[in-house]
Amino acid sequence: MRKMSRMRLLMCCLGALVLWPGAGLAQGVPPADHPAVTVKGKTYTPRSILARNMGTEADRITAFPPHRIIGNIYYVGTNTISSFLIATPQGHILIDSTYERNVPTIEKSVAQLGFKFSDVKILLGNHAHGDHQEGDALVKQMTGAQVMAMAEDVPALQAMKPGGKEHPIDKVLHDGDAVELGGTTLVAHLTPGHTRGCTTWTTTAQDGGKTYNVMFGCSLRPPAVLTPALVEEFNRAFKTVRGLPCDVQLGDHGAQYNMQEKYAKLKDGSANPFIDPASCTLEADVEEAMFKAILAEQQQVPRP
Ligand SMILES: [Zn+2]
Repeated sequence: MRKMSRMRLLMCCLGALVLWPGAGLAQGVPPADHPAVTVKGKTYTPRSILARNMGTEADRITAFPPHRIIGNIYYVGTNTISSFLIATPQGHILIDSTYERNVPTIEKSVAQLGFKFSDVKILLGNHAHGDHQEGDALVKQMTGAQVMAMAEDVPALQAMKPGGKEHPIDKVLHDGDAVELGGTTLVAHLTPGHTRGCTTWTTTAQDGGKTYNVMFGCSLRPPAVLTPALVEEFNRAFKTVRGLPCDVQLGDHGAQYNMQEKYAKLKDGSANPFIDPASCTLEADVEEAMFKAILAEQQQVPRP
């Protein structure tokens, strides 16, 4: 029994390592299909959450129709991996370069919206995994944008060198720092756990003469094995996220905010489907339930 449990734990770790999206692997051993948690009538496992986030290899690299979300905030990512453009009269902010091979796709989406990719002045990141920030060096090369990163993610970013290229970091940010450009202010909130410097960005945007709070959520997906340090980080992240003002919740993967369903409801003249305060904590609810279930499962494993 003891051997079985340790074996199971080891299998979890291996699964998570092989499938870590930062490794850029399309195939591999999926993460464990346990524990299962049910939130608002839907059941999730680590495997189903990762599958939901990543989709197929084609989903990861195929442009989703670029669209305005609210105010000056636009989606320029792929079917399953987010990239957001915040357009201002003084140039643009881009959140997430995603995989390096997606950068030309993002450039095209930006152009389709009527903006110039070369006008991107600031590049921000969600978290230091390859599916979100591998393309930073290429974006910097193509636009000359200033690259800013949360201090706690700097070591992981420096280790990310596609084709041997150094990861550019022009400015190191700390929890609570504001980034301003052309009348738009974004605030960086440290929500660690998924990575040490996982960053939730907040800003405001106008729609129909009203101002709304927008939250670009960082991943809250826990790994298969939770160390005491990780438990502390995740607890901090859940608490922080729940305390942020939010009318429009976005995320580093579209599935975290039902992007595809909301996009399908976008119609001229009707209410903006992305303004949905009721769903602002859904992702935190799902991941916190999973975090607690993984912790409970882990605590059942007898120590040798
Ligand atoms: Zn990640």
